[in-house]
Amino acid sequence: MDSKETNKSNLEKTYGYVWDKYKGKELDDLFAFSEGYKEFISRCKTERECVSEFIRMAEENGYKDVSTFIEKGEPLKAGDKVYANNSGKTLALFVIGSQSMEKGLRIVGAHVDSPRLDLKQNPLYEDGGLALFKTHYYGGVKKYQWVTIPLAIHGVVIKKDGTVVDIVIGEDENDPVVGITDLLIHLASDQMEKKLSKAIEGEDLNISLGSIPIEDKDEKDRVKKNILKLLYEKYGITEEDFVSAELEVVPAGKARDYGLDRSMVMGYGHDDRVCAYTAFEALMDIENPDKTCVALIVDKEEIGSVGATGMTSRFFENTVAEIMNLVGDYSELKLRRALANSKMLSGDVSAAFDPNYPSVMEPRNSAYMGKGMAFNKYTGVRGKSGSNDANPEFIAELRAIMEKHDVMWQTAELGKVDQGGGGTIAYILAEYGMDVIDCGVPVHNMHAPWEIASKADIYETMKGYRAFYMEA
Ligand code: MN
Ligand code: MN
Repeated sequence: MDSKETNKSNLEKTYGYVWDKYKGKELDDLFAFSEGYKEFISRCKTERECVSEFIRMAEENGYKDVSTFIEKGEPLKAGDKVYANNSGKTLALFVIGSQSMEKGLRIVGAHVDSPRLDLKQNPLYEDGGLALFKTHYYGGVKKYQWVTIPLAIHGVVIKKDGTVVDIVIGEDENDPVVGITDLLIHLASDQMEKKLSKAIEGEDLNISLGSIPIEDKDEKDRVKKNILKLLYEKYGITEEDFVSAELEVVPAGKARDYGLDRSMVMGYGHDDRVCAYTAFEALMDIENPDKTCVALIVDKEEIGSVGATGMTSRFFENTVAEIMNLVGDYSELKLRRALANSKMLSGDVSAAFDPNYPSVMEPRNSAYMGKGMAFNKYTGVRGKSGSNDANPEFIAELRAIMEKHDVMWQTAELGKVDQGGGGTIAYILAEYGMDVIDCGVPVHNMHAPWEIASKADIYETMKGYRAFYMEA
């Protein structure tokens, strides 16, 4: 597409408030979009819950499981919509384009794992008249934020015969919640002198589960045994079953409107379900594209994208090969060309400028709440170490696309130079030689139990991803 010169008024428009752009019905649409998002993140708090909900929604929109095509050797053609499910934790959704896939795909990728507390392999014990779970935190958490708040338990227990038991405790208003204690202020003088990183330590993140003993006074660990009895009655699981479980302790409760003007959403795990949801919703609007469009929803980003369901696994590459084969256009060389010719938006959250902590930000290169989708040309630490540094040619193309579709965007760095840093899945896809840039929704409280995002930025990010699918 032709790239118009961006003049001064366009630049001003680029860095203005999204809120100034929408009136009437359009403003209603913006708010309505976040209602769907709030509902989604209130229910889907684990990677498995996100993937199964995305599959349900995709099937409603005409997507089919690619594995049935592979099994039957049934061909795919332009316009077809399929998904590939990797262990219920990673999902790749495709709309097949009219052009050869060798010309490249348009990919928006995001992750659905969020920082949380995982149960240990042997989690249940009794101490001081309480039954408790041992946990091991997952991802980067500030441990002191996880005490004294209502927590819920989500996940699966896989029994020896392969039966999957789904568990969600603490979300229904009639459910009990669980939690982690903190020391009373009256006895905390030693604790209060400690560094914030040491005040609550990893081994202190133990979940209180109950305090009623079973009746038989001759038994040991009677409180623990009562919890086991309850778990057996409700779920048919025994203590041994924890060994083959994936149980995640997350903040309990729904996402809420935040701010007196309801302009923001407070919810658990905006990082990165806000980019996964917006990418998914954007893809659902795409019909009969010229290039094949993909929403890639991955696991394990928060611990380095490792493992069979992380971005570094061969799952995506193998799936692209399968789909090229099903459209009758596969060779090893064509696969390599397809990946190298692809373009990708690596959807991940960015840090929004926080007036409470201005000293870590560089205000001229920060993202702001309500100013649209944030592009991060590079992430990384120190001298951009570990960063995917996007090509300016690609950024110029994206500027033109966003302008054509009237999407408001901003640029951001993750804080001041040498203040810290972070990474995403961008560099992993960039290894194929494709153009990749990080972009997504700026948030406050990143990795805290309750994160904050602007409804305007959520809406604009969905529109930005959709524009990319239509034009890149
Ligand atoms: Mn993230
Ligand atoms: Mn993160």
